[in-house]
Amino acid sequence: MPIHTFEKIIDNLTAERIFRQIPFEQFIVELSGSGELILRSIFQFFHDMIDHHISETVDEYPEDVENIGYLLYNMDSLFIDDSEKPFFADRLFSNRLVNLARSFRLGSPPHKIYVFKGPAGSGKSTFLNNLLNKLEAYARSDKGLLYEVVWKIPTDGLSKPSGRKTRGSTKAGVTKDGEQSFEKTDLDFFEVPCPNHDNPIVMIPRNHRAKLLKEIIPQEAFRKRLFKHKQFEWVLKSEPCTICSSIFDALTEKFSIKEIFSMIHARRYLFNRKQGVGISVFNSGDDLEKSLVRKNETIQKFLNEFFQDSNKVQYLYSSYAQTNQGVRALMDLKARNIQRFLDLHGIISDEVHKVQEIEERIQSLFIVLMNPGDFDQISQNKETQADGKIDTSLQDRIHEILVPYVLDYNTEIKIYTNTFGEQIKLRFMPHVLESFARVIISSRIKRSEVIKDWIKLRSVYEKFCDPDFHILKMDLYAGVIPEWLTKEDRGALKAEIRKGVLAESETEGHTGFSGRESQQIFNEFYTQFSKKRPITMKHLHDFFLDENRKLKDKIPGEFLKHLTGLYDHEVLKEAKDAIYSYNEEEIIKSILNYLVSITHNVGEIVKNPYLNNEEFEVTGDFLDIVETHLIGYNASNYQKSKFRDEAIAEYASMTLAREIKTEGKKITETKQFQEMFAQFTRTAREKVLEPYVGNNNFRCAIKEFDTEDFSKYDNKIKEKVQTLFKNLGEKYGYSIECAKTVILYVLDNNLMEKFK
Ligand SMILES: [Zn+2]
Repeated sequence: MPIHTFEKIIDNLTAERIFRQIPFEQFIVELSGSGELILRSIFQFFHDMIDHHISETVDEYPEDVENIGYLLYNMDSLFIDDSEKPFFADRLFSNRLVNLARSFRLGSPPHKIYVFKGPAGSGKSTFLNNLLNKLEAYARSDKGLLYEVVWKIPTDGLSKPSGRKTRGSTKAGVTKDGEQSFEKTDLDFFEVPCPNHDNPIVMIPRNHRAKLLKEIIPQEAFRKRLFKHKQFEWVLKSEPCTICSSIFDALTEKFSIKEIFSMIHARRYLFNRKQGVGISVFNSGDDLEKSLVRKNETIQKFLNEFFQDSNKVQYLYSSYAQTNQGVRALMDLKARNIQRFLDLHGIISDEVHKVQEIEERIQSLFIVLMNPGDFDQISQNKETQADGKIDTSLQDRIHEILVPYVLDYNTEIKIYTNTFGEQIKLRFMPHVLESFARVIISSRIKRSEVIKDWIKLRSVYEKFCDPDFHILKMDLYAGVIPEWLTKEDRGALKAEIRKGVLAESETEGHTGFSGRESQQIFNEFYTQFSKKRPITMKHLHDFFLDENRKLKDKIPGEFLKHLTGLYDHEVLKEAKDAIYSYNEEEIIKSILNYLVSITHNVGEIVKNPYLNNEEFEVTGDFLDIVETHLIGYNASNYQKSKFRDEAIAEYASMTLAREIKTEGKKITETKQFQEMFAQFTRTAREKVLEPYVGNNNFRCAIKEFDTEDFSKYDNKIKEKVQTLFKNLGEKYGYSIECAKTVILYVLDNNLMEKFK
């Protein structure tokens, strides 16, 4: 490796890893610039970390007055990017997590144990690992700025302490990396880190703290919050830990206050999960912490010699101290972790606990992962109340956050694409991959009582929604208010109902296909059908209802049938929308050409006097299409020819002879034209597909689109087909192949009739 590359690496690493200790005076200066970062408890810090990782927030219905703030948060940066194993937070879970973090930002420290509860296979340990990794990285970043106290006690004039001196090797107690070369005089100091990670601000006595902060915090808005808001109360109220205050007191016997403050330094509070600093994670198999009391003999020896007294400062602390103002987590609630869990409860309830003679005050974010039913185990392990439930004092300290299986189909799809690649989407007809995800999720959710009360007339939806409204519920979970709701039901979708539906999710996602199972199922499905291009709803049926697979027991009865109803409803809407291309001018032209055509024979080339003698060919298809617009697509050939004869008669005797020649009207002002125009427009909008359904040439043209044979069709048909393919592609993402499949599906299944 060329030497300059190596130097660059060194430079980069240095820039990343320098965290110099700063004297207390410098810390005060930093406070005035970055107080908002430095004065954060672990709870505020946690909030900011989550907030930092939300790359995008979407509100699909900002104008909706009944909006309850159930938003789409993009948390990929927190749970997916740069993670060994991704965690997929669905919309429900993301909202829970964001709301939790917000409550940390806005309230006083909660004194709770945060229990993330979810069934096996819900990915909760991946969730926690990723979360803690990002927390650790955040603490190292500029935005993660936090400081802690480290004492630098001068060794001059002492009989040389036998403990090792600073110069990078002291590292007693809580180790840190990154200190760089010191001034020469640094060699004459002995470092004693605060094992409780005290924020240096607490070294200013409480009665002077407010005055100082008022003076040094220049940002008015922040200053106001600092003094008024609950979450900052700790800044004014907290006291240094027992060790720091006893060092302070002991020093006053030998040094001036000014000299003592020159010994207090601030260093970055960095989390290190592997060392258990700031973040500690316990598995049920881990040995219980050997002894509750931790000591550091080197430091203790130094302190004893320095103060010539072995009782002045007792450098004792518990393992909880190492995660004070940090995160302490239990990976499950089994075996040895049950005791740890009960210990956490003790710490939270008592606030202060004893480490031998010393009092220790712990404030940490306690996180516990749990399977449903784990509390039963605790009941067996703990003295419980007579009714066998865990006692209420413990229950009161628990805040449950559910981590169920994914209940949002968009997230479910993301899981598949993450494993199999984005390109899988190209193998599916539009809506079919989403339908696959909906089938999986249907196994995890329950019939909605709230929706049942809300929807007035169920029968309106029976063609495209299941009677238990699983389909509707899934949409609401995904943040979608379906367009197919009637005006009345849409209007009645009040905030209370939305909250009620979301609340139902709290009891769901614990049964049905697990996260692991759904991946396996998708894998099997994809292996079997990826060669079929494109994958359609029929393949879904074949797969899920296959007797040999035994999947259908977990899927609500007839769910696939109703899901297909929804699919049909959607694709019909798309096909109609895609084929509708008429503008007024085109309709006028069609009618004028029709009026001229009917007095000629099929196959003739005629000039249209109303359109500057523009030439066109009279074709059977053209007459047929206009006539179906005018009298309906059910019309028989006899009716059509009768209509045509009458139109010819009216055109000759009324339109031409009287209105135009006698009354001097323009053709577009005649009664016949205006009636035709009104009728054509109505049909074009409402029954846009009907005129083509029975037209065999239209069907063939669809099949032969994008081939040489396509050119042989009538212009009107060609135009329509081209518009249809273009719009299906541009508006709805259909490839030519998928567009052909879907139009033929619509025609062959006579979906127009189904949704009449
Ligand atoms: Zn301390």
